[in-house]
Formats: sequence, C-alpha cells, structure tokens
Amino acid sequence: MMLSGVTPLCWQTNSYDVDTRPAIVTMPLDAVAVSNSDWRDRLSGMDIPLAVSSDNVTLDCLKTLISTGRLTFDQGVKLMVNPSLNSVTSLADMVKKARFQDYVFFNENLHVNSTNVCVLACRFCAFRKGPRHPDAYSLDVDQYIERVRPYSSRIDEVHTVGGLHPIWTVSEYCELFSNLKHEFPHIHIKALTAVEIKHLSSRSSLSFSETLSRLSEAGLNSLPGGGAEILVDSVRDRICMGKESSDEYLEIHGVAHSLGIPTNCTMLFGTVESVEDRINHLLRLREQQDESSGFQCFVPYPFLPDKTRLPEAQLATGQEIIRMISVSRLMLDNIPHIKAYRMNIGDKLASYAINCGADDVDGTVGHEEIMHEAGSKTSLNTSSEQLARMVTSSGAIPVKRNSSYSQFEIINLPEENASHVLPVITVEVP
Ligand code: SF4
Repeated sequence: MMLSGVTPLCWQTNSYDVDTRPAIVTMPLDAVAVSNSDWRDRLSGMDIPLAVSSDNVTLDCLKTLISTGRLTFDQGVKLMVNPSLNSVTSLADMVKKARFQDYVFFNENLHVNSTNVCVLACRFCAFRKGPRHPDAYSLDVDQYIERVRPYSSRIDEVHTVGGLHPIWTVSEYCELFSNLKHEFPHIHIKALTAVEIKHLSSRSSLSFSETLSRLSEAGLNSLPGGGAEILVDSVRDRICMGKESSDEYLEIHGVAHSLGIPTNCTMLFGTVESVEDRINHLLRLREQQDESSGFQCFVPYPFLPDKTRLPEAQLATGQEIIRMISVSRLMLDNIPHIKAYRMNIGDKLASYAINCGADDVDGTVGHEEIMHEAGSKTSLNTSSEQLARMVTSSGAIPVKRNSSYSQFEIINLPEENASHVLPVITVEVP
C-alpha cells in the first residue's frame, strides 16, 4: 500500500496525550480488507479463548454462530444473565475480529442541533425546552452555517438532530440542508431521527416517503438512529409517551432504506425495561435489517439521569454497558458496525468496549449537547490523533472512515506509542 501523506497534528490536552508531538502518517485501506461477508469462515478458524471454551453458554453460541450465524432469543437472554461477563466479551471480541480484524473506525464529524424546542416531553430527555424557556433556541440558516464554518475544513460529516418544533415543516429543514450543501459540498449530512421525520411529515401533510425524498433532494444523506429507545411499546408508553411507536420507527427506517438513504439504529437502555425487552429490541432491528438492509451501524447507550424525570430508572453499571455492547455484536449478525458511543459512555469505557465487540468509536464530534445535558463528561472537540491514540492504546488499529463506511484510511502512530497488550489464553477444543 502507498503512503498518502502526513497529516498535521491539532495538539490538545487530554488523558491520551503524550509529551512529544508525534508524526502521524495515514495510508489508504482497501474497502475489501474490511468486507465481512466471510466472517463465519474466519470465526471457525480462530483460536478459542479459554473464557469462551470453558463456558457452556458461550461455547454453544460460538457453535451456532459458526453453523448458522444467527443466535436465538433464548441464547440472547442467556448471554445477558451469564455470570461470566468475560466469556461474553471474549466471544464478542472474536466475532468483531472475524469481521474487522484489529481495525477500529471513527470519522471526523460535528454535532449541530437545530433546535431544542420540542412539543413532547420524554421523561428521559434533558435536552428539550418549551418555546418560552430562556434557553430555548431555533437556528436560522445563517446561524446553522456559522456553527459549521469553523470546523468545515476538518470534518466531512454534520450530525443534526433536534426537538419537534411546533411550527417548522419540512421546508425549514430543506433550507438548512440545501444551504449547508451549497456552502460545504464535501460534508455528508446525517440528520433527523425517525420521530422528527414523523413530526415533519405530519406538519407538512406529506407521507414518510415524500418527506424523506424532499429532504434527500435538499442534501440529506443519511439518518441517525436516535429515538429507538426500546422497541417495546409498553416500555415506550412509560418513558416517552407520544413518541413514534416501535412499528413507526421501523417503518420510517425501512422507507429510508427503500429510497437508498442509509441509517443507523440505537437502543437506550437502563430505564425501566427488562432483559427480555432488550433482546426483543435487537430482534426487531435484525428482522427489519433482513427486510430493508439499510442499517449501517448499531449504537447502544445507557440512560443518563441528570435533569431527567425517571426516578425509577435502573441505571446501567459499567459492566452492564459493556455486556450490552457485546451481546449486541453477537445478536445483530446482519448489522455490520457496533459503536461504542463515546459521548455517552465516556472515552475509558469506549476504549475497553473496543475489546468487547465494538468496532467503531464515533467521531471527533466537536460539539455535543444531548448527552452532556444529561450528565456526560466526555471531552469534546477531540482530534483524530487523540482518537487514534485511544484506539491504539486498546491494542487496535485506528482507521478513519467516511460516513458511508466506503473509504478508509489507517492512521499510523509512531512506534513509541505502541500499546502493550496482554496475551489471551486459548485452548484447543476437541
Ligand atoms: S427525546 Fe426528542 S422527542 Fe423526546 S422530548 Fe427530547 S427532544 Fe423531544
């Protein structure tokens, strides 16, 4: 492979910094190298960690994954309650490596929220404001563009979500997106969750398909996955009454896929749902992906309680967060990427998740409000080099990607930053 050049450093301070300024070298990575269609063959040829082979549940799951690629509901529940977390994370790490070897992906992006004014009041939400709240805002086109401008030369994606504005229709968003595209044509616009699409459709008297088509013509490239919460309506009624139903969430993503608009999908866990609800959520996404094939990435994240109204929430522990990421990797055989969402779970847990099934750590992000309003302390405006160092420190190879996971660039850090990875104990299974 040819070296493509030296990327200048943007030097900042966080726990992944070192004292000297390293030279960062990037080189292209062929998309074929990260294609994962033969992951089951690769899995069958891998050494089996002792943690997996000595545990009946994970050994049974490994055999199923090799033979059919698809775990059952019962296997998913068993993984969720298996006393050996290490066996679950080790199996997830095997599957991640069978799919993507040691590569871990991120992109260079910026979050810009269009408005925090919302007609709903989901109980887990710390972001929304009523229209007369002193901190309520709604960006006009100039303000939206000016949020992006300072970052425009070092990002290739803008991620925009917001509240359900009482007045805006699809036209306001078409104006935001077409102006952003005109000014910065290289930027991929990933915007509007399913409930926003539903709200805009209703406000504009358009079908989901017509709404998405209009937005796509204006510059929308993909949808984020937010708003899935738990795709079990009895849970939704308790935490986000009035939001789109589980069926509507899946329908809107299916319509987007049919129009050639890729999407992500998410899960908000640690509120009032059961283990079975979480597995059912994963199965509903898996079924939708069988039908429409447009989910690129799954992003599981735990509920953060600051400024929210869910005192009965069963907050997820660090171990539970890691287990959820691992089980997602194992259950979602048809969704290629599993993200450790730094903005929610923090950099340290995200770097651990890289060895427990996650292959993506989101991006540089630049600015984030929704998780930080709810209590996230994750540092913002992280540089690519800092992210690469985080990935390398976890024993993986950092790869910068584009928004559609079709272009990749390995980031090589200097030798002195190489990680020290403990060996994995493996054993032959007769
Ligand atoms: S989660 Fe979204 S829809 Fe619900 S209150 Fe917050 S901004 Fe509104």
